[in-house]
Amino acid sequence: MYDIVVIGAGVTGSASARALSRYNLKVLVLEKEEDVCSGTSKANSGIVHAGYDAVPGTLKAKLNMEGSRMMEQLSKDLDIPYRRNGSMVVCTDSARMDALKRLYDRGVENGVEGLKIISGDEARKMEKHLTKDAVAVLYAPTAAVVCPFELNIAMAENACENGVEFRFDTEVEKIEKTPSGFCIETKDGDSIDTAWVVNAAGVYADRFHNMVSAKKLHIVPRRGEYCLLDSECGGHVSHTIFPQPTEMGKGILVTRTVHGNLMLGPTADEIEDKEGTCTTAEGLDKVLQGAGKTVEDIPYRKIITSFAGLRAHEEGGDFVIGEARDVPGFIDVAGIESPGLTASPAIGEMVARIYGNRMHPEKKTQWKGTRKGIPRVREMDMEERNALVRQNPAYGRIVCRCEQVTEGEILDAVHRPIPARSLDGIKRRTRAGMGRCQSGFCSPMVMDLLNKEAGIPFEELTKSGKGAELVVGETKEERA
Ligand SMILES: Cc1cc2nc3c(=O)[nH]c(=O)nc-3n(C[C@H](O)[C@H](O)[C@H](O)COP(=O)(O)OP(=O)(O)OC[C@H]3O[C@@H](n4cnc5c(N)ncnc54)[C@H](O)[C@@H]3O)c2cc1C
Repeated sequence: MYDIVVIGAGVTGSASARALSRYNLKVLVLEKEEDVCSGTSKANSGIVHAGYDAVPGTLKAKLNMEGSRMMEQLSKDLDIPYRRNGSMVVCTDSARMDALKRLYDRGVENGVEGLKIISGDEARKMEKHLTKDAVAVLYAPTAAVVCPFELNIAMAENACENGVEFRFDTEVEKIEKTPSGFCIETKDGDSIDTAWVVNAAGVYADRFHNMVSAKKLHIVPRRGEYCLLDSECGGHVSHTIFPQPTEMGKGILVTRTVHGNLMLGPTADEIEDKEGTCTTAEGLDKVLQGAGKTVEDIPYRKIITSFAGLRAHEEGGDFVIGEARDVPGFIDVAGIESPGLTASPAIGEMVARIYGNRMHPEKKTQWKGTRKGIPRVREMDMEERNALVRQNPAYGRIVCRCEQVTEGEILDAVHRPIPARSLDGIKRRTRAGMGRCQSGFCSPMVMDLLNKEAGIPFEELTKSGKGAELVVGETKEERA
Protein backbone atom coordinates (compact mmCIF):
# COMPACT_ATOMS: atom_id res chain seq x y z
CA MET A 1 0.00 0.00 0.00
CA TYR A 2 1.48 3.34 -1.06
CA ASP A 3 0.69 6.66 0.59
CA ILE A 4 0.67 8.39 -2.81
CA VAL A 5 0.91 7.26 -6.42
CA VAL A 6 1.80 9.95 -8.98
CA ILE A 7 0.69 9.19 -12.55
CA GLY A 8 3.13 10.74 -15.04
CA ALA A 9 6.84 11.58 -14.86
CA GLY A 10 6.76 14.86 -16.77
CA VAL A 11 7.77 18.14 -15.10
CA THR A 12 4.62 18.39 -12.99
CA GLY A 13 4.65 14.76 -11.79
CA SER A 14 8.36 14.95 -11.05
CA ALA A 15 8.05 18.30 -9.24
CA SER A 16 5.18 16.87 -7.17
CA ALA A 17 7.21 13.75 -6.35
CA ARG A 18 10.19 15.88 -5.32
CA ALA A 19 8.08 18.13 -3.07
CA LEU A 20 6.38 15.09 -1.49
CA SER A 21 9.76 13.42 -0.92
CA ARG A 22 10.33 15.84 1.98
CA TYR A 23 7.95 13.73 4.06
CA ASN A 24 8.13 10.23 5.49
CA LEU A 25 5.82 8.76 2.86
CA LYS A 26 5.81 5.83 0.47
CA VAL A 27 5.58 7.55 -2.92
CA LEU A 28 5.49 5.81 -6.30
CA VAL A 29 5.62 7.45 -9.76
CA LEU A 30 4.10 5.46 -12.64
CA GLU A 31 5.12 6.35 -16.21
CA LYS A 32 3.89 4.65 -19.35
CA GLU A 33 7.02 5.50 -21.34
CA GLU A 34 10.54 4.15 -20.79
CA ASP A 35 11.93 7.32 -19.18
CA VAL A 36 11.06 10.59 -17.47
CA CYS A 37 10.38 13.60 -19.72
CA SER A 38 8.70 11.63 -22.49
CA GLY A 39 5.50 13.68 -22.93
CA THR A 40 4.92 17.42 -23.42
CA SER A 41 7.81 18.24 -21.10
CA LYS A 42 10.27 17.14 -23.78
CA ALA A 43 8.83 19.31 -26.59
CA ASN A 44 8.33 22.95 -25.65
CA SER A 45 10.09 26.32 -25.87
CA GLY A 46 12.00 26.06 -22.58
CA ILE A 47 11.06 29.62 -21.64
CA VAL A 48 10.71 30.73 -18.03
CA HIS A 49 7.88 33.14 -18.71
CA ALA A 50 8.01 36.47 -16.90
CA GLY A 51 4.27 36.30 -16.10
CA TYR A 52 2.46 39.02 -18.10
CA ASP A 53 0.39 36.62 -20.25
CA ALA A 54 -1.86 34.94 -17.75
CA VAL A 55 -5.10 36.61 -16.67
CA PRO A 56 -4.68 38.10 -13.16
CA GLY A 57 -6.36 36.06 -10.45
CA THR A 58 -6.00 32.73 -12.26
CA LEU A 59 -3.94 29.79 -11.05
CA LYS A 60 -1.84 30.18 -14.19
CA ALA A 61 -0.89 33.73 -13.22
CA LYS A 62 -0.15 32.87 -9.58
CA LEU A 63 1.93 29.76 -10.31
CA ASN A 64 3.73 31.38 -13.27
CA MET A 65 4.97 34.14 -10.95
CA GLU A 66 5.91 31.74 -8.16
CA GLY A 67 7.68 29.32 -10.52
CA SER A 68 9.55 32.08 -12.33
CA ARG A 69 10.81 33.42 -8.99
CA MET A 70 11.87 29.94 -7.82
CA MET A 71 13.62 28.84 -11.01
CA GLU A 72 17.04 30.50 -10.68
CA GLN A 73 17.71 29.11 -7.19
CA LEU A 74 16.28 25.73 -8.17
CA SER A 75 18.63 25.50 -11.14
CA LYS A 76 21.57 26.16 -8.81
CA ASP A 77 20.31 23.55 -6.33
CA LEU A 78 19.82 20.96 -9.06
CA ASP A 79 22.90 21.90 -11.12
CA ILE A 80 21.05 22.64 -14.38
CA PRO A 81 21.58 25.46 -16.88
CA TYR A 82 19.52 28.67 -16.56
CA ARG A 83 19.99 31.94 -18.44
CA ARG A 84 18.07 35.11 -17.69
CA ASN A 85 17.96 36.57 -21.19
CA GLY A 86 14.80 38.73 -20.96
CA SER A 87 11.91 38.71 -23.43
CA MET A 88 10.37 41.14 -25.89
CA VAL A 89 6.80 41.24 -27.22
CA VAL A 90 6.94 43.09 -30.52
CA CYS A 91 4.19 45.40 -31.74
CA THR A 92 4.50 45.97 -35.50
CA ASP A 93 1.23 47.82 -36.00
CA SER A 94 0.53 51.08 -34.19
CA ALA A 95 -3.19 50.19 -34.26
CA ARG A 96 -2.34 47.36 -31.79
CA MET A 97 -0.55 49.57 -29.25
CA ASP A 98 -3.59 49.38 -26.95
CA ALA A 99 -3.25 45.60 -26.80
CA LEU A 100 0.45 45.94 -25.92
CA LYS A 101 -0.44 48.39 -23.15
CA ARG A 102 -3.08 45.95 -21.84
CA LEU A 103 -0.42 43.23 -21.70
CA TYR A 104 1.83 45.60 -19.75
CA ASP A 105 -1.01 46.38 -17.28
CA ARG A 106 -1.70 42.68 -16.86
CA GLY A 107 1.97 42.05 -16.09
CA VAL A 108 2.06 44.87 -13.55
CA GLU A 109 -1.07 43.46 -11.87
CA ASN A 110 0.53 39.99 -11.77
CA GLY A 111 3.62 41.51 -10.13
CA VAL A 112 6.17 41.13 -12.96
CA GLU A 113 9.30 43.06 -11.99
CA GLY A 114 11.04 45.56 -14.30
CA LEU A 115 8.42 45.37 -17.07
CA LYS A 116 8.42 48.34 -19.48
CA ILE A 117 7.30 49.43 -22.93
CA ILE A 118 10.19 50.72 -25.04
CA SER A 119 10.29 52.17 -28.55
CA GLY A 120 11.18 50.12 -31.62
CA ASP A 121 14.45 52.09 -31.96
CA GLU A 122 15.43 51.40 -28.36
CA ALA A 123 14.64 47.72 -28.79
CA ARG A 124 16.69 47.50 -32.00
CA LYS A 125 19.71 48.85 -30.09
CA MET A 126 19.34 45.86 -27.75
CA GLU A 127 18.50 43.34 -30.49
CA LYS A 128 20.08 44.12 -33.87
CA HIS A 129 18.05 41.67 -35.97
CA LEU A 130 14.71 42.84 -34.62
CA THR A 131 12.32 43.70 -37.45
CA LYS A 132 12.46 47.26 -38.77
CA ASP A 133 8.65 47.20 -38.49
CA ALA A 134 8.78 47.14 -34.68
CA VAL A 135 6.86 50.16 -33.42
CA ALA A 136 7.19 49.34 -29.73
CA VAL A 137 8.20 46.44 -27.54
CA LEU A 138 7.09 45.12 -24.16
CA TYR A 139 10.38 44.30 -22.47
CA ALA A 140 10.47 41.83 -19.55
CA PRO A 141 13.97 41.50 -18.05
CA THR A 142 12.98 38.64 -15.73
CA ALA A 143 12.19 36.11 -18.49
CA ALA A 144 14.74 33.31 -18.81
CA VAL A 145 15.52 30.07 -20.63
CA VAL A 146 16.13 26.61 -19.16
CA CYS A 147 16.68 23.14 -20.56
CA PRO A 148 13.31 21.37 -20.16
CA PHE A 149 14.93 17.91 -20.22
CA GLU A 150 17.46 18.70 -17.55
CA LEU A 151 14.86 20.39 -15.35
CA ASN A 152 12.56 17.37 -15.58
CA ILE A 153 15.33 14.80 -15.12
CA ALA A 154 16.92 16.69 -12.23
CA MET A 155 13.65 17.00 -10.28
CA ALA A 156 12.94 13.30 -10.80
CA GLU A 157 16.47 12.25 -9.83
CA ASN A 158 16.34 14.38 -6.73
CA ALA A 159 12.98 12.84 -5.77
CA CYS A 160 14.46 9.38 -6.38
CA GLU A 161 17.52 10.18 -4.22
CA ASN A 162 15.08 11.13 -1.48
CA GLY A 163 13.31 7.77 -1.60
CA VAL A 164 10.60 8.10 -4.27
CA GLU A 165 10.15 4.94 -6.35
CA PHE A 166 9.79 5.22 -10.17
CA ARG A 167 8.33 2.54 -12.45
CA PHE A 168 8.68 2.96 -16.21
CA ASP A 169 6.93 1.16 -19.09
CA THR A 170 3.98 1.01 -16.72
CA GLU A 171 0.76 2.27 -18.25
CA VAL A 172 -2.15 3.00 -15.93
CA GLU A 173 -5.32 1.54 -17.39
CA LYS A 174 -7.94 1.95 -14.68
CA ILE A 175 -8.45 3.64 -11.29
CA GLU A 176 -11.11 2.52 -8.83
CA LYS A 177 -12.13 4.01 -5.52
CA THR A 178 -11.72 1.58 -2.60
CA PRO A 179 -12.55 1.93 1.13
CA SER A 180 -8.89 2.74 1.89
CA GLY A 181 -8.14 4.88 -1.15
CA PHE A 182 -7.67 3.73 -4.72
CA CYS A 183 -6.77 0.62 -6.66
CA ILE A 184 -4.75 1.32 -9.81
CA GLU A 185 -4.66 -1.30 -12.55
CA THR A 186 -1.86 -1.26 -15.08
CA LYS A 187 -1.93 -2.48 -18.66
CA ASP A 188 0.31 -5.40 -17.64
CA GLY A 189 -2.34 -6.57 -15.19
CA ASP A 190 -0.75 -5.37 -11.92
CA SER A 191 -2.89 -3.88 -9.15
CA ILE A 192 -1.43 -1.14 -6.98
CA ASP A 193 -3.16 0.08 -3.81
CA THR A 194 -2.67 3.63 -2.67
CA ALA A 195 -4.27 6.05 -0.23
CA TRP A 196 -3.85 9.10 -2.52
CA VAL A 197 -3.38 9.70 -6.25
CA VAL A 198 -1.72 12.65 -8.00
CA ASN A 199 -3.03 12.78 -11.56
CA ALA A 200 -0.21 14.42 -13.58
CA ALA A 201 -0.85 12.54 -16.83
CA GLY A 202 -0.55 15.52 -19.20
CA VAL A 203 -2.95 15.31 -22.17
CA TYR A 204 -4.47 12.17 -20.59
CA ALA A 205 -5.25 13.76 -17.20
CA ASP A 206 -8.94 14.19 -18.14
CA ARG A 207 -9.23 10.43 -18.73
CA PHE A 208 -8.16 9.57 -15.18
CA HIS A 209 -10.11 12.40 -13.58
CA ASN A 210 -13.27 11.32 -15.40
CA MET A 211 -12.85 7.71 -14.19
CA VAL A 212 -13.40 8.76 -10.58
CA SER A 213 -15.19 12.12 -10.59
CA ALA A 214 -18.71 13.10 -11.66
CA LYS A 215 -17.57 16.62 -12.65
CA LYS A 216 -15.94 16.00 -16.02
CA LEU A 217 -12.83 17.58 -17.56
CA HIS A 218 -12.10 17.81 -21.27
CA ILE A 219 -8.55 18.26 -22.51
CA VAL A 220 -7.99 19.16 -26.14
CA PRO A 221 -4.42 18.72 -27.42
CA ARG A 222 -3.06 21.88 -29.07
CA ARG A 223 -0.11 21.01 -31.26
CA GLY A 224 2.91 23.30 -31.49
CA GLU A 225 5.51 22.73 -34.21
CA TYR A 226 9.10 23.98 -34.13
CA CYS A 227 12.28 24.33 -36.17
CA LEU A 228 15.62 24.11 -34.41
CA LEU A 229 18.73 25.70 -35.90
CA ASP A 230 22.36 24.80 -35.40
CA SER A 231 24.15 26.17 -32.34
CA GLU A 232 26.31 28.42 -34.54
CA CYS A 233 23.12 30.52 -35.06
CA GLY A 234 22.27 31.00 -31.37
CA GLY A 235 23.78 34.49 -31.32
CA HIS A 236 21.29 35.72 -33.93
CA VAL A 237 19.12 36.98 -31.07
CA SER A 238 19.84 37.29 -27.39
CA HIS A 239 16.31 37.87 -26.01
CA THR A 240 13.24 35.70 -26.53
CA ILE A 241 11.23 37.54 -29.19
CA PHE A 242 7.43 37.11 -29.28
CA PRO A 243 4.78 38.60 -31.54
CA GLN A 244 1.69 39.99 -29.81
CA PRO A 245 -0.37 37.11 -28.37
CA THR A 246 -3.72 35.91 -29.74
CA GLU A 247 -6.56 33.75 -28.33
CA MET A 248 -4.57 30.65 -29.37
CA GLY A 249 -1.45 31.53 -27.40
CA LYS A 250 1.74 33.49 -27.32
CA GLY A 251 2.54 33.12 -31.01
CA ILE A 252 5.65 32.10 -32.91
CA LEU A 253 8.75 33.08 -30.98
CA VAL A 254 12.40 33.30 -31.89
CA THR A 255 14.83 32.47 -29.11
CA ARG A 256 18.31 31.36 -28.28
CA THR A 257 17.99 28.17 -26.26
CA VAL A 258 19.94 27.77 -23.06
CA HIS A 259 22.40 25.57 -24.99
CA GLY A 260 22.92 28.17 -27.72
CA ASN A 261 20.72 26.88 -30.58
CA LEU A 262 18.26 29.17 -32.33
CA MET A 263 14.66 27.98 -31.99
CA LEU A 264 11.58 29.06 -33.99
CA GLY A 265 7.98 28.17 -33.14
CA PRO A 266 5.50 26.99 -31.97
CA THR A 267 2.32 26.91 -34.03
CA ALA A 268 -1.00 26.33 -32.23
CA ASP A 269 -3.44 23.89 -33.85
CA GLU A 270 -6.19 22.01 -32.03
CA ILE A 271 -6.16 18.33 -32.95
CA GLU A 272 -7.96 15.21 -31.75
CA ASP A 273 -5.08 12.75 -31.53
CA LYS A 274 -3.43 12.77 -28.10
CA GLU A 275 -0.35 11.18 -29.67
CA GLY A 276 -0.27 13.55 -32.67
CA THR A 277 3.27 14.86 -32.30
CA CYS A 278 4.14 14.67 -35.99
CA THR A 279 5.26 17.79 -37.84
CA THR A 280 3.51 18.94 -41.01
CA ALA A 281 4.60 20.89 -44.08
CA GLU A 282 1.90 23.53 -43.44
CA GLY A 283 2.86 23.85 -39.77
CA LEU A 284 6.56 24.31 -40.50
CA ASP A 285 5.71 26.88 -43.21
CA LYS A 286 3.74 28.84 -40.61
CA VAL A 287 6.76 28.68 -38.28
CA LEU A 288 9.12 30.14 -40.89
CA GLN A 289 6.69 32.87 -41.91
CA GLY A 290 5.81 33.75 -38.31
CA ALA A 291 9.44 33.95 -37.18
CA GLY A 292 10.29 36.26 -40.09
CA LYS A 293 7.69 38.80 -38.91
CA THR A 294 9.64 39.73 -35.77
CA VAL A 295 13.26 38.86 -36.61
CA GLU A 296 15.20 39.55 -39.82
CA ASP A 297 17.82 37.52 -41.72
CA ILE A 298 17.15 34.23 -39.94
CA PRO A 299 19.61 31.69 -41.41
CA TYR A 300 16.94 29.15 -42.37
CA ARG A 301 19.50 26.96 -44.15
CA LYS A 302 20.91 26.05 -40.74
CA ILE A 303 17.77 24.22 -39.57
CA ILE A 304 18.91 20.87 -38.14
CA THR A 305 15.59 19.38 -37.03
CA SER A 306 11.90 19.96 -36.43
CA PHE A 307 9.60 18.61 -33.74
CA ALA A 308 6.17 19.12 -32.17
CA GLY A 309 4.64 19.10 -28.69
CA LEU A 310 1.04 18.99 -27.41
CA ARG A 311 -0.39 21.56 -25.04
CA ALA A 312 -2.94 20.02 -22.63
CA HIS A 313 -5.62 22.67 -23.13
CA GLU A 314 -8.54 22.25 -20.73
CA GLU A 315 -11.81 23.86 -21.80
CA GLY A 316 -11.96 26.12 -18.72
CA GLY A 317 -8.67 27.71 -19.86
CA ASP A 318 -6.93 27.58 -16.46
CA PHE A 319 -4.76 25.02 -14.69
CA VAL A 320 -6.93 22.52 -12.77
CA ILE A 321 -4.99 21.72 -9.60
CA GLY A 322 -6.54 20.47 -6.39
CA GLU A 323 -8.29 17.62 -4.62
CA ALA A 324 -11.32 16.70 -6.72
CA ARG A 325 -14.39 17.88 -4.75
CA ASP A 326 -16.26 14.60 -4.98
CA VAL A 327 -13.17 12.35 -4.69
CA PRO A 328 -11.19 12.89 -1.48
CA GLY A 329 -7.55 11.85 -1.89
CA PHE A 330 -7.46 12.41 -5.66
CA ILE A 331 -5.34 15.43 -6.63
CA ASP A 332 -5.62 16.68 -10.20
CA VAL A 333 -2.72 18.39 -11.94
CA ALA A 334 -4.61 18.86 -15.18
CA GLY A 335 -4.84 21.35 -18.03
CA ILE A 336 -1.17 22.20 -17.58
CA GLU A 337 -0.45 24.00 -20.81
CA SER A 338 2.00 26.90 -20.99
CA PRO A 339 3.37 28.26 -18.62
CA GLY A 340 3.44 24.80 -17.05
CA LEU A 341 7.19 24.36 -17.33
CA THR A 342 7.80 27.68 -15.60
CA ALA A 343 5.17 26.93 -12.98
CA SER A 344 6.25 23.32 -12.36
CA PRO A 345 8.29 23.87 -9.17
CA ALA A 346 5.39 25.91 -7.72
CA ILE A 347 2.89 23.24 -8.83
CA GLY A 348 4.95 20.61 -6.96
CA GLU A 349 4.87 22.72 -3.80
CA MET A 350 1.11 23.26 -4.18
CA VAL A 351 0.49 19.52 -4.45
CA ALA A 352 2.59 18.85 -1.34
CA ARG A 353 0.69 21.61 0.51
CA ILE A 354 -2.71 20.13 -0.43
CA TYR A 355 -1.62 16.73 0.87
CA GLY A 356 0.15 18.20 3.91
CA ASN A 357 -2.82 20.31 5.03
CA ARG A 358 -5.05 17.24 5.08
CA MET A 359 -2.72 14.49 6.24
CA HIS A 360 -0.07 16.32 8.34
CA PRO A 361 2.78 13.97 7.38
CA GLU A 362 6.03 13.90 9.30
CA LYS A 363 8.98 15.68 7.68
CA LYS A 364 12.18 13.72 7.02
CA THR A 365 15.14 14.81 9.08
CA GLN A 366 17.56 14.02 6.24
CA TRP A 367 15.95 15.47 3.10
CA LYS A 368 18.50 16.66 0.54
CA GLY A 369 17.21 19.29 -1.88
CA THR A 370 20.38 19.50 -3.96
CA ARG A 371 21.81 17.23 -6.63
CA LYS A 372 24.96 17.17 -8.73
CA GLY A 373 24.51 16.75 -12.49
CA ILE A 374 26.72 15.03 -15.06
CA PRO A 375 29.96 17.03 -15.64
CA ARG A 376 29.69 19.17 -18.81
CA VAL A 377 33.13 18.68 -20.26
CA ARG A 378 32.55 21.03 -23.24
CA GLU A 379 32.00 23.93 -20.83
CA MET A 380 35.23 23.33 -18.91
CA ASP A 381 38.53 25.13 -19.48
CA MET A 382 41.61 23.10 -20.40
CA GLU A 383 42.86 22.88 -16.82
CA GLU A 384 39.54 21.50 -15.54
CA ARG A 385 39.36 19.04 -18.43
CA ASN A 386 42.88 17.79 -17.80
CA ALA A 387 42.17 17.28 -14.12
CA LEU A 388 39.04 15.28 -14.94
CA VAL A 389 40.77 13.18 -17.61
CA ARG A 390 43.58 12.35 -15.18
CA GLN A 391 40.93 10.99 -12.79
CA ASN A 392 39.09 9.12 -15.53
CA PRO A 393 40.39 8.91 -19.14
CA ALA A 394 36.84 8.30 -20.44
CA TYR A 395 36.26 12.07 -20.10
CA GLY A 396 39.00 12.54 -22.70
CA ARG A 397 37.30 10.44 -25.40
CA ILE A 398 34.82 12.42 -27.52
CA VAL A 399 31.82 10.38 -28.69
CA CYS A 400 29.49 13.12 -30.01
CA ARG A 401 31.60 15.45 -32.14
CA CYS A 402 28.89 18.05 -32.77
CA GLU A 403 28.17 18.67 -29.09
CA GLN A 404 31.60 17.57 -27.76
CA VAL A 405 30.16 14.92 -25.44
CA THR A 406 32.61 12.44 -23.96
CA GLU A 407 32.39 8.75 -23.21
CA GLY A 408 32.65 9.58 -19.50
CA GLU A 409 29.46 11.65 -19.64
CA ILE A 410 27.59 8.87 -21.43
CA LEU A 411 28.72 6.30 -18.88
CA ASP A 412 27.55 8.68 -16.13
CA ALA A 413 24.11 8.86 -17.79
CA VAL A 414 23.84 5.07 -17.65
CA HIS A 415 24.61 5.08 -13.91
CA ARG A 416 22.43 7.95 -12.68
CA PRO A 417 19.76 7.38 -9.98
CA ILE A 418 17.27 7.19 -12.88
CA PRO A 419 19.48 5.64 -15.56
CA ALA A 420 19.32 6.30 -19.31
CA ARG A 421 18.28 3.17 -21.20
CA SER A 422 17.79 4.46 -24.77
CA LEU A 423 19.46 6.76 -27.29
CA ASP A 424 16.99 9.53 -26.41
CA GLY A 425 17.63 8.96 -22.70
CA ILE A 426 21.36 9.50 -23.31
CA LYS A 427 20.64 12.47 -25.58
CA ARG A 428 18.47 14.30 -23.05
CA ARG A 429 20.96 13.76 -20.23
CA THR A 430 24.19 14.56 -22.11
CA ARG A 431 23.26 16.21 -25.48
CA ALA A 432 24.96 13.40 -27.44
CA GLY A 433 23.00 13.37 -30.72
CA MET A 434 21.52 16.88 -30.29
CA GLY A 435 23.90 18.54 -32.73
CA ARG A 436 23.90 19.18 -36.46
CA CYS A 437 24.39 15.54 -37.50
CA GLN A 438 21.43 14.56 -35.27
CA SER A 439 23.23 11.43 -34.01
CA GLY A 440 24.28 10.22 -37.49
CA PHE A 441 27.85 9.75 -36.33
CA CYS A 442 27.59 9.01 -32.61
CA SER A 443 24.63 6.63 -32.40
CA PRO A 444 26.62 3.40 -33.09
CA MET A 445 29.11 4.35 -30.36
CA VAL A 446 26.35 5.25 -27.92
CA MET A 447 24.63 1.94 -28.69
CA ASP A 448 27.88 0.12 -28.02
CA LEU A 449 28.25 1.86 -24.65
CA LEU A 450 24.62 1.12 -23.71
CA ASN A 451 25.19 -2.51 -24.64
CA LYS A 452 28.41 -2.88 -22.65
CA GLU A 453 27.64 -0.66 -19.68
CA ALA A 454 23.90 -1.24 -19.16
CA GLY A 455 23.98 -4.82 -20.45
CA ILE A 456 21.16 -4.23 -22.94
CA PRO A 457 21.39 -6.68 -25.87
CA PHE A 458 21.70 -4.90 -29.26
CA GLU A 459 18.37 -6.16 -30.53
CA GLU A 460 16.64 -4.69 -27.45
CA LEU A 461 18.27 -1.25 -27.76
CA THR A 462 15.79 1.45 -28.71
CA LYS A 463 15.68 5.08 -29.71
CA SER A 464 12.91 5.87 -27.25
CA GLY A 465 11.42 2.69 -25.76
CA LYS A 466 9.42 -0.29 -27.01
CA GLY A 467 8.48 -0.08 -30.68
CA ALA A 468 11.52 2.08 -31.53
CA GLU A 469 14.07 -0.74 -31.80
CA LEU A 470 17.22 0.18 -33.69
CA VAL A 471 18.45 -3.11 -35.13
CA VAL A 472 16.62 -6.14 -36.45
CA GLY A 473 19.45 -8.68 -36.59
CA GLU A 474 22.92 -9.27 -37.91
CA THR A 475 23.47 -8.34 -41.58
CA LYS A 476 25.12 -11.65 -42.53
CA GLU A 477 22.34 -13.75 -40.96
CA GLU A 478 19.99 -13.24 -43.91
CA ARG A 479 22.58 -14.37 -46.44
CA ALA A 480 23.61 -17.52 -44.55
C1 LIG B 1 4.43 23.77 -27.98
C2 LIG B 1 4.56 23.99 -26.50
C3 LIG B 1 5.36 25.02 -26.01
C4 LIG B 1 5.46 25.25 -24.66
N1 LIG B 1 6.34 26.19 -24.19
C5 LIG B 1 6.45 26.42 -22.87
C6 LIG B 1 7.37 27.36 -22.37
O1 LIG B 1 8.17 27.92 -23.11
N2 LIG B 1 7.37 27.61 -21.05
C7 LIG B 1 6.52 27.01 -20.20
O2 LIG B 1 6.52 27.34 -19.03
N3 LIG B 1 5.67 26.04 -20.62
C8 LIG B 1 5.64 25.73 -21.94
N4 LIG B 1 4.81 24.75 -22.40
C9 LIG B 1 4.01 24.01 -21.45
C10 LIG B 1 4.79 22.90 -20.77
O3 LIG B 1 5.60 22.21 -21.68
C11 LIG B 1 3.80 21.94 -20.11
O4 LIG B 1 2.93 22.68 -19.30
C12 LIG B 1 4.46 20.89 -19.25
O5 LIG B 1 5.51 20.25 -19.92
C13 LIG B 1 3.42 19.87 -18.81
O6 LIG B 1 4.05 18.92 -18.03
P1 LIG B 1 3.25 17.69 -17.46
O7 LIG B 1 4.18 16.96 -16.55
O8 LIG B 1 1.96 18.14 -16.88
O9 LIG B 1 2.87 16.82 -18.74
P2 LIG B 1 3.77 15.77 -19.57
O10 LIG B 1 5.16 16.22 -19.73
O11 LIG B 1 3.01 15.45 -20.80
O12 LIG B 1 3.80 14.50 -18.62
C14 LIG B 1 2.70 13.63 -18.48
C15 LIG B 1 3.26 12.23 -18.38
O13 LIG B 1 2.20 11.33 -18.08
C16 LIG B 1 2.48 10.12 -18.75
N5 LIG B 1 1.25 9.36 -18.88
C17 LIG B 1 0.16 9.66 -19.63
N6 LIG B 1 -0.76 8.66 -19.56
C18 LIG B 1 -0.25 7.73 -18.72
C19 LIG B 1 -0.72 6.46 -18.26
N7 LIG B 1 -1.86 5.92 -18.70
N8 LIG B 1 0.05 5.77 -17.41
C20 LIG B 1 1.26 6.25 -16.99
N9 LIG B 1 1.76 7.43 -17.44
C21 LIG B 1 1.01 8.16 -18.28
C22 LIG B 1 3.02 10.58 -20.10
O14 LIG B 1 3.75 9.57 -20.77
C23 LIG B 1 3.88 11.77 -19.69
O15 LIG B 1 5.23 11.41 -19.49
C24 LIG B 1 4.72 24.47 -23.76
C25 LIG B 1 3.94 23.41 -24.24
C26 LIG B 1 3.90 23.16 -25.61
C27 LIG B 1 3.14 21.99 -26.13
